[in-house]
Amino acid sequence: MTEIEHKIYIDSVIRRVETARLRVSGHHIVKIIAVSKYSTAQEIETLYEIGQRAYGENKVQDLKAKSEALEELPLEWHFIGNLQKNKINNLLDIRPTLFQALDSLELAEELQKKLLAKGMTLSCLMQINSAKEDSKHGFMPEEALSMYKKITKECPNIKLKGVMSIGAHSEDKELIKKSFETTYEIYKQLPSATICSMGMSNDFELAIECGSNMVRLGSIMFNK
Ligand SMILES: *Cc1c(COP(=O)(O)O)cnc(C)c1O
Repeated sequence: MTEIEHKIYIDSVIRRVETARLRVSGHHIVKIIAVSKYSTAQEIETLYEIGQRAYGENKVQDLKAKSEALEELPLEWHFIGNLQKNKINNLLDIRPTLFQALDSLELAEELQKKLLAKGMTLSCLMQINSAKEDSKHGFMPEEALSMYKKITKECPNIKLKGVMSIGAHSEDKELIKKSFETTYEIYKQLPSATICSMGMSNDFELAIECGSNMVRLGSIMFNK
């Protein structure tokens, strides 16, 4: 694609996000995280040049490599993948803007220890397994509220900002919608939460309709 074609393409994606958010309300602001896990540092730079600042990665080593390669640019990095305990220090050294996949109490406790030792805080989202799928990580919907309060209280270096969820793995739009509604219901009950991260390339319009205010777009943002 030429630069002009690329701009036109990205504008068409942004317009879809815009149309979806305006159907909710003119006051409903949605942030786009460009998920760069299938893309190179060069492709990120190209997208940055047309205005995209926030990026998401799901592997610590990829986040490290790309954030280092692009350290001159004022980018915001989000970590969206499952975090193994032995990778916590590596992630913290990168100082990501937001860790979106806090998926268990054990991980929260381990993170708290490491954060305290480093004298750091970390903004996080609690991941919800909204469709209760064995293949997915995250807190079950019925325990989410009490766990959110427990982590807020017991892990002061973890700054919980809201929730993240991946829509149900299904062809059935109603099932996907139900999983987003489940997450949004939890989000609404959380004390002082401001981020409800849900929606990917195939379902972001539905997610926004259900209340999402942060979408994680990979393939569609990078035209793959
Ligand atoms: C890969 C990934 C995305 C983006 O997926 P696309 O379908 O390419 O938009 C979003 N969220 C998470 C957690 C992911 O792992």
